Formats: sequence, structure tokens, C-alpha cells
Amino acid sequence: RVNRRMHPEDTVIRVGDAVIGGGDQLCLIAGPCSVESKEQMRTLAADVKAAGAQILRGGAFKPRTSPYAFQGLGPDGIELLLEAKKASGLPIISEIMDLADLPYFEEVDILQVGARNMQNFALLKALSKIDKPILLKRGLAATYEEWLMSAEYLMSNGNENIILCERGIRTFETGTRNTLDISAIPVLRQKTHLPIIIDPSHAAGKHDLVRPLAQAAVAAGADGVMIEVHNDPEKALCDGPQSLHPSEYSRLAADLKGLHAYC
Ligand code: PEP
Ligand code: MN
Repeated sequence: RVNRRMHPEDTVIRVGDAVIGGGDQLCLIAGPCSVESKEQMRTLAADVKAAGAQILRGGAFKPRTSPYAFQGLGPDGIELLLEAKKASGLPIISEIMDLADLPYFEEVDILQVGARNMQNFALLKALSKIDKPILLKRGLAATYEEWLMSAEYLMSNGNENIILCERGIRTFETGTRNTLDISAIPVLRQKTHLPIIIDPSHAAGKHDLVRPLAQAAVAAGADGVMIEVHNDPEKALCDGPQSLHPSEYSRLAADLKGLHAYC
């Protein structure tokens, strides 16, 4: 089902004002790594919307490396995200880690499967029965074929609306948090009709590397970029060092739209 040969036309997914795939529009997804408070979500939703983002992100269930790190606000985080959705009119995306949490996601527009769950086949099988777009992040050390097989799991019960998201992979290099694999864009373009989004934030790990990686992604033909934005990156409870300030994001989003039109 993921194979371009069986399905030559690009898959195009429409959510709110976002058009994901097909090449006509650049999809901009932005928001904090984690939902932290009502005030934070209210201001960030307005800021990223004004910058031109069409989808608001925010994690409520967080897959943290340490069990003692902030784990996300859980169901309360989803509530705050829903309030921001109502106030801003932006559709929302959030990560689901456990199938038992699915009831909380009823009004979440796009479900995210994180890098660490890319091969959680029980979760993928269960989500394949759901009628909602799913953004599937590439596993930390997954090959293209493994990643596409995971997308195949999600499509195995008829869900056609799968978005692939490259977020950097593990290599020997320690200068960035992960190595952004730009080749994923042209290679997957040949192999599959599914939309390809780049997350430069988790690849970079540092806010000052986000802009060039995002520009490279758009120049290479990505269908969109998902970027972490925080109102006060220094105080962020998760991924502050890689988060852009809203004013920085606003300049970048404008430049990316111009680049997309030019490419
Ligand atoms: C995230 O998007 O905040 C996240 C946890 O990403 P990843 O699964 O790519 O690490
Ligand atoms: Mn994050």
C-alpha cells in the first residue's frame, strides 16, 4: 500500500487549512515540545498561527529517556491543547504512546507515533483501525525499508492517511543531537506516494541549527516542516535548547514559504 508503483499519484491529506503532500503547499507544523500551561498554549497558538503555521503541535504524553524527567501533563495536557485548538482554530497534533490513552485523543486531529514507538507493532496495528491521519516518525536507527514497513502496518486496515516524518538518526557524529538524513526526501519520494515532513528540531538539538536544516528540507522537496517553538525556551520543561522563540519562528516560516514557492 505504501508503494509508489502500486499508487503513482501523491497522497494528499487535508486537515484544516493544511494541505500535506502533492507539492502545492508547504505544511507548517509548530508548537512546544510539551504542553505546559494554559497561558503558554494560548500565546503560542496565536503566535504560530500569525507566523503562518497551519497545525499546532504539543506533547501531553512524553517519551522521556529518564523516568524522573517531566513526563508531560497527560490528559490535562490534551485538554489544554483542545482549548488552544478552539481559541485559535488550528488543528492539533499530539503523540500517542499507549493505546489505553486513545479515548483522550478523540478531538486530536493528527496522531503522532514517536521515533521510539516506530516498531511498536501492537500500537501500529491498533492505530491502523483508526480513521485519522497519523504522523509516523522514523525510528532512531531505522532503515527506509523498516520505516516503510511500519507505515504499511498503519495502512494494513485501510487507513490511507499516513505522513512520514524524518527527525534525524543515530550516527557516530555527536555535533548534533541526531543526524538529519536529507536523502530521506528524494529516496522516499521514489519509493512511496506518502507525504514526507522534516522535523529539524529533534535532529539539530540546538536552536541555531534549526534554520539551515529547515531550509535544506524545503529545498530538497519536503512536504512540510515540524518545528518546536517555545515562548520562553530557557525555562521549557522539555527540549528548550532546540526550541525557537516565536519571533525567530515567524521569520523562518516566512522565509520557508518563499523558498518553497521558489523551488
Ligand atoms: C517530539 O516530537 O517531541 C518527540 C518526542 O519526537 P521524537 O519521537 O522524534 O523523538
Ligand atoms: Mn521534543
